[in-house]
Amino acid sequence: MYETDLSILAKEALIKEEENSRFRDYLSGKDQNSLDELVFKLNERVSAAIDCTLCGACCRSLMINVTGAEVKELSRTLGMLPGDFKAKYIEESAQGHFIINQIPCHFLAGSKCSIYANRFTECREFPHLHKPHFKNRLFGTLMHYGRCPIIYNVIEELKKKLNWSFTENI
Ligand code: SF4
Ligand code: SF4
Repeated sequence: MYETDLSILAKEALIKEEENSRFRDYLSGKDQNSLDELVFKLNERVSAAIDCTLCGACCRSLMINVTGAEVKELSRTLGMLPGDFKAKYIEESAQGHFIINQIPCHFLAGSKCSIYANRFTECREFPHLHKPHFKNRLFGTLMHYGRCPIIYNVIEELKKKLNWSFTENI
């Protein structure tokens, strides 16, 4: 029912670049609360129908921020010392922020996360469509339209729900 073929998504993102830019402008004029409500509903439906363990596209393309507590917890789970864990998997910024030091992520095995039950908060929260203030994240969300099947399908459903068509907005 929903499109999950990543090669089709990538092509659609190129074809619909202008369309999505217009749609973003249109959405930025909508009422925040009612838009959030609609996105929550669509996200619930689309997310339930898409199996992230068969995809892993975000794990192949995102820079993942990690907290100190997550480093400690995961190193313990993996039976490693936090220092060894950091040396192997983490890069630390000058400001003391941690990120996974490799894209695709070290913990991706095929299209599945090998530490799924212990994955980082940032991984759990992507693509952030369950959070309020969707309007404030339009640019970042649409940036992943051609990569994330959940985003792609929520955006396409949103166009239909709002009766928005590119041809009427050229
Ligand atoms: S920790 Fe798991 S879910 Fe997070 S980016 Fe790596 S492979 Fe993906
Ligand atoms: S969040 Fe999106 S890109 Fe990441 S695994 Fe799920 S469907 Fe794929």
